[in-house]
Amino acid sequence: MTEGRQRPYAGAPRPARTSGKRPGRLDETSAGAFDDLIEANAAFASTFALSGFDGVAHAGVAVVTCMDSRIDPLGMLGLSAGDAKIVRNPGGRVTEAALEALILGIHLLDVRRILVIPHTRCAMASNTSEELREAVAESAGMEVLGHVFQAVEDQVEALREDVARVRSHPLIPASVLVGGFLYDVDTGLLNQLI
Ligand SMILES: [Zn+2]
Repeated sequence: MTEGRQRPYAGAPRPARTSGKRPGRLDETSAGAFDDLIEANAAFASTFALSGFDGVAHAGVAVVTCMDSRIDPLGMLGLSAGDAKIVRNPGGRVTEAALEALILGIHLLDVRRILVIPHTRCAMASNTSEELREAVAESAGMEVLGHVFQAVEDQVEALREDVARVRSHPLIPASVLVGGFLYDVDTGLLNQLI
């Protein structure tokens, strides 16, 4: 961590900004719907140790990976909460939003190494965009208009493009190391491809 640098995201927690309005009553559809999770959260908070956390990536690591629920991005790398910035989306792609997160992570939050990690048996790579659109349309009971689901045709090629996109970004210095990996959801192993 650099001494004396201004870090808009770091430091002691500030009180949340509010609009001055009182929170309204929960509407009927959501009241009670999360009780099991809120109860689990109370147990979690009873041993919470990150109070006053400075927000930097303590291991200097950022991970871009898929939203797939089989993936534990911290656990797979032997990291814990506080160690890394995690960016997730369908397929683990370097999207504009992912790039924004990486740039902020590098310049404000001590990220020095980036892992881009798509995975085996990913729905985004085993279906075509058309198949994804049809599946959503069937579930929603309506045509999907104005939205394109970006399936991945060739995962390794897409990974090459995504890593190149990070490495060539003008706001990402060459000193930041970027690797491309494939995570095997059946063995838990990472295979570095780039
Ligand atoms: Zn996936």
